[in-house]
Amino acid sequence: MAQPTIRVTVWNEFRHEKIHPKVQAVYPNGIHAVIAQALAAQPDLSVRCATLDEPEHGLTEAVLGATDVLLWWGHMAHSEVADEVVTRVQQQVLAGMGLIVLHSGHHSKIFRRLMGTGCDLKWREAGERERLWNVCPAHPITQGIGDYFELPHTEMYGEPFTIPTPDEQIFISWFEGGEVFRSGCTWRRGNGNVFYFRPGHETYPIYQDANVQKVLVNAVRWARPLLRQPSTCPQSEPLETIRSTPA
Ligand code: ZN
Repeated sequence: MAQPTIRVTVWNEFRHEKIHPKVQAVYPNGIHAVIAQALAAQPDLSVRCATLDEPEHGLTEAVLGATDVLLWWGHMAHSEVADEVVTRVQQQVLAGMGLIVLHSGHHSKIFRRLMGTGCDLKWREAGERERLWNVCPAHPITQGIGDYFELPHTEMYGEPFTIPTPDEQIFISWFEGGEVFRSGCTWRRGNGNVFYFRPGHETYPIYQDANVQKVLVNAVRWARPLLRQPSTCPQSEPLETIRSTPA
């Protein structure tokens, strides 16, 4: 039986690629274009992109309503994301839309809003080696990934990462300089599945990496909504006759 189509929106701030030649060289059409291409190669995924400088950041009610899973990459312009759009995305996640937050998206308004903590970390840009350990081999997100995979040149992110304790720990990174980091984490917020995935610094071709792409494909399928329904707070009629009402 054919799998149902999952509607994916890849959101990218899309600023570094316009102004930094080093980033343009790695992602001439934007980080979102590379991620979208990798996802669109899967027959069960239908993919669109949205960027910060579009009206409403490309995330209108109509776009979000037709999005099963939203991916989010941002870094230098988190503060330019309108609070109204952040609230709109939050409401869709609580209703059931999946959200995958990438790399420097740890400081995005939407991630901090959903986590309720600072989401701070240590960082260093030395182009060092990273080894991502698969600590949840039975999880849908790690299927096809071995015990670990490596990225030859990355920005370091180090603990403490000030997130709420994840519902599931998926990857833990080790860096050549000695630090470790919780690089893959899941949470449920309302009906929505949230996955944070660390790799993706803009000056390295990390979204071209086959393992990274495999994780993203797996994560999209994992994060798809099983129920899409806004949360309500209704007064409830009893199912049975209540006989113990006080006099
Ligand atoms: Zn970075």
